[in-house]
Amino acid sequence: MSVARRFIFSGLVLVACGHTAPTASPPAAIASSPSLVELEPLAEGVWLHRTTHDEIPANGLVVATADDGALLVDTGWSDADGLALLAAVHDRLGRTVTDAIVTHSHDDRVGGVRALVAHGVHIHAGTATAAKMVADGLPAPDDAAASPAARTIGGVDVEIFFPGAGHTRDNVVVWLPATKIVFGGCFVKSPAATDLGNIADAELAAWPASIAAVRARYPQAAIIVPGHGPITGDDPAIDGLARTAALLAAP
Ligand SMILES: [Zn+2]
Repeated sequence: MSVARRFIFSGLVLVACGHTAPTASPPAAIASSPSLVELEPLAEGVWLHRTTHDEIPANGLVVATADDGALLVDTGWSDADGLALLAAVHDRLGRTVTDAIVTHSHDDRVGGVRALVAHGVHIHAGTATAAKMVADGLPAPDDAAASPAARTIGGVDVEIFFPGAGHTRDNVVVWLPATKIVFGGCFVKSPAATDLGNIADAELAAWPASIAAVRARYPQAAIIVPGHGPITGDDPAIDGLARTAALLAAP
């Protein structure tokens, strides 16, 4: 995907530039691949981050924390993305990533974990994701969070919630009460999505009730962030949870 097309695809992209190396000294073995990170303001102290692999953009979050720190939600597709995220947050936001929450154990969520761990970032994951990461040979998360898990990270309250199976059996959502953001990851489709995406590990029968559990737990949610694609669609009444439910009802 060309840069020009990426801009069209992603709509309001305020900052985009390529990084071939982070500012800190990374392990040589994982510093060689170029990566591009897009950052887009989403709410006070919260940015959407977007990394792209095989022309598929994936969404994550950067959350400002105390003392010029930052929390990531999801890590990009690869160690190169993980390093590029650290560099982008440092160079463009003037912040140092201290923590990252991963929302399930697929590459577009945990791909950058090794690079983050190499830079001292503390990793948080739901218990099922933590077990799968270890089984897959990734570093064990510092924090295997039993749902619902309330955490305060650099002064910012978050909740890690397992709503039930859906996109995977381990998918969690992240709630940011200060900004009323639900980060849904791949469990939540974009309002613009026309299909359920990768369902190789999905639990289609369980997914609708899991979607309803997120709606019931966070009725005050103002922004629902899907794992891929835009947050809003043509009809403002149809958010990502509603779109996912509709796709499950008539895939
Ligand atoms: Zn996935």
